[in-house]
Amino acid sequence: MSVDLLGLPYPEMETFLDRIGVGAKHASRVYRGMHRNMLPLSEIPFLGRHAGVIAAHSHTTKVVLSAVHRSPDGTRRLVVDLEDGAQVESVLIPMRNDRQTLCLSTQVGCAMACRFCATGTLGLTRSLTAGEIVAQVHAARRLAAGENRQLRNLVYMGMGEPLHAYDATIDSVRVLSDDHGVNFGSQHITVSTVGLVQRIKQFGEQFGGRVMLALSLHAGTDAVRQRIIPTAVRVSMADLRQACLAHPLPGKRVLMLEYAVLPGVNDTDEELAAVAAWQKGMRAVVNLIPFNPFPGAPYRSPTRAEVISAYDRLQAMRVPATIRWPRGRGANGACGQLALRQRSASAGTDHTGDLTPR
Ligand code: SAH
Repeated sequence: MSVDLLGLPYPEMETFLDRIGVGAKHASRVYRGMHRNMLPLSEIPFLGRHAGVIAAHSHTTKVVLSAVHRSPDGTRRLVVDLEDGAQVESVLIPMRNDRQTLCLSTQVGCAMACRFCATGTLGLTRSLTAGEIVAQVHAARRLAAGENRQLRNLVYMGMGEPLHAYDATIDSVRVLSDDHGVNFGSQHITVSTVGLVQRIKQFGEQFGGRVMLALSLHAGTDAVRQRIIPTAVRVSMADLRQACLAHPLPGKRVLMLEYAVLPGVNDTDEELAAVAAWQKGMRAVVNLIPFNPFPGAPYRSPTRAEVISAYDRLQAMRVPATIRWPRGRGANGACGQLALRQRSASAGTDHTGDLTPR
């Protein structure tokens, strides 16, 4: 297979251009054209005959936005077609000041099979390549740019387990955060993981903790975590705690602990007290996510009062917490609803996105 230009981090781009005789000094021009300005190789200025040489030794992954499902709250679920016919979804979430957050996918399906996640019911088909992840971001950037909006944040929280697609995730972050190209600030990129501890360690070392880490905690005890997250059988709460305490947090960075509120399952006093004990000494914020329903899900959605009650109890134990009120449910684009259903059936009320309850 020839090299996929779109997925090459900058140093690898230099090496590649040297190897094919074009010369590393053209790397910044290629990067600016391809990533910042999203131009095809043949239209990158001042490459001249080099464009042909590069094209002969490489390819550029293409993805197609085949559908956009809009939720009444302005969130859009994008269906992204890959070259082999596989599809993934990403979600564009409006923020303040015409800025957007992109929730992106790293795998076609997912192998983790978390019981509260629609993607988990699909199984894993394959991981995306770094080029496919970057192309997914470019597709969303084009859409946003056409509306004079700016893509500001990237969250690796779509379909798949980013640290299971480790190399593609790392290389795509390296490409997207490189200042020769799109230059997303590392504090604007968040990678979310179910908790693969060896990979968390590697990820922390790779970026010195500058790229944000979110851990899907979802429980305070091993018993409950194992009931809802099958892979938790291999990773104890104690192992997770060690990995989180060891994770570097430069500047004002904090660790995000995601917690899907499953009424009667993980929102009991006992469970929340265990969370409080677990996160002691950590610079972390618990992000409560009201469970988003999907067909066949074994849980129900919490009421607004149940979510606020969990929040209040955490606050009372001095655990920093926020609530991620669902966005995009009206287009099946909320957390854990990505399962490539084509129709966008409305699923309940949409509360839109403030982070403070009441
Ligand atoms: N595989 C990554 C990314 C998953 S999606 C991970 O496990 O972190 C991002 C977040 O949404 C995760 O915390 C995930 O556990 C959560 N989530 C999944 N399904 C959900 C649902 N139905 N309702 C609310 N949150 C959900």
